Amino acid sequence: MKTVVLDGYTLNPGDLSWEGFKSLGEFTCYDRTESKDILPRIKDAEYVITNKTPLTSETISACGNLKYIGVLATGYNVVDVAAASAKEIPVCNIPTYGTTAVAQFAFALLLNICNHVQDHSNAVFDGKWTKAPDFCFWDFPLTELAGKTMGIIGYGRIGQATGKIAQAFGMKVLAYDDYQNQDLVCDSVKYGTLDELLAQSDVISLHCPLFDSTEGIINKGNISKMKDGVILINTSRGPLIVEADLAEALNGGKVRAAGLDVVSTEPIKADNILLKAKNCFITPHIAWAPLESRKRLMNIAVDNLKSFIDGSVVNKVN
Ligand code: NAD
Repeated sequence: MKTVVLDGYTLNPGDLSWEGFKSLGEFTCYDRTESKDILPRIKDAEYVITNKTPLTSETISACGNLKYIGVLATGYNVVDVAAASAKEIPVCNIPTYGTTAVAQFAFALLLNICNHVQDHSNAVFDGKWTKAPDFCFWDFPLTELAGKTMGIIGYGRIGQATGKIAQAFGMKVLAYDDYQNQDLVCDSVKYGTLDELLAQSDVISLHCPLFDSTEGIINKGNISKMKDGVILINTSRGPLIVEADLAEALNGGKVRAAGLDVVSTEPIKADNILLKAKNCFITPHIAWAPLESRKRLMNIAVDNLKSFIDGSVVNKVN
């Protein structure tokens, strides 16, 4: 029984252990795998584990022994799930390891935009405060969140965790989701249509998965329906946003600022239009990565495979 991890480095750059997988049989872990090496590395494996290495329909068809695909992430859009289903191969993800960490990071991006802590600290260390005529100065507009509305697209686990933080900041939450849980509705949390969310939100945070139905959901048309000066946060998946449309809106001021942990192609390409857009803050897909979350991820990934081997599939997405 052979398990292959195609891209283990980001989960475990050396501060975690692969022992859990090793205890289940023959095990090989590659730090990362280029496209040309995917098939040679997994063609005789029973269990394949990927984080962001794509498993296409062609690859899945060519792996004769493949019995199980484990994704080291919540989002599983790197796997052709339909192709796996057609071969009755379960695709199992890690649904909950990073809920609080990602919600925290959405707020880290938002607070960076509202308070510019690092920019102001840099200015102080550059000597600007020492030379200032007054006891204080600020170089950027400072924004209070209390009383403002956060529109959350995708009110699932991370969306709800982000909504809880928003409520703690005194914000109102307007959620848009295909599936509505009326138990979550209260004075400060309401569901609305996408158009209502776009029109009423001061901050919009994306927490829906990347599906055909959500790809490009932030586009020129939908941006035009937003409030002037809206703040956009994306910790979900880059292709939810049409980046050229967002860049235009940032440069024109329609969108005041964007905080993005994900972009269309990762790592980001040198010519990504957002790298030159105004008021755009980009982090390298790290919302999931605190040690605490990665430990949980590793444990759940091992448990997923153990359960499959024991005959009961858990966290199956297909
Ligand atoms: P979840 O499944 O709990 O929630 C997703 C929600 O989106 C669900 O409530 C679902 O009904 C809703 N949804 C689906 N299609 C929709 C649509 N067309 N319009 C509106 N809502 C729709 O997932 P989660 O744990 O909250 O994770 C959300 C996403 O966060 C993941 O899919 C992943 O892409 C991303 N993520 C990013 C990181 C990171 O490091 N940046 C880490 C973990 C997860």
